[in-house]
Amino acid sequence: MASKTLEIHCPGCGRVTLLLRQPTYEGFTKVGDQLSCASCGHAFASEEEVPYKFATPVRVFTEADKSKVAKVFDEGENARLCRYCVNYVINPFMQWCGHHRKEVEATDTCPAFQLKPPPKAEPV
Ligand SMILES: [Zn+2]
Repeated sequence: MASKTLEIHCPGCGRVTLLLRQPTYEGFTKVGDQLSCASCGHAFASEEEVPYKFATPVRVFTEADKSKVAKVFDEGENARLCRYCVNYVINPFMQWCGHHRKEVEATDTCPAFQLKPPPKAEPV
């Protein structure tokens, strides 16, 4: 069972503590996460600024997995999988449905499915 919290080494209070992550929404679209220290409330402007205690985040899916699965389920009913939904959020420790606000699997299907727009190029 994956942990729902992340350990950080906070520069604000100097403690090893937990990261609070609160999704921010514009309508039904997740626009980002508000990240802060659970102990002192120190806010982090971006994911890059978070001093995670674990240096290397776990990659759940590789780029190769993504393209392979995308081809298999490109069309038809199977495309209503959570992983293709605009409300599906993934991080190193869990997969999350922003619509139902619960943990989901990439292969779950959902009556409230909304197809995610094609991914934009993101800076690495
Ligand atoms: Zn702190």
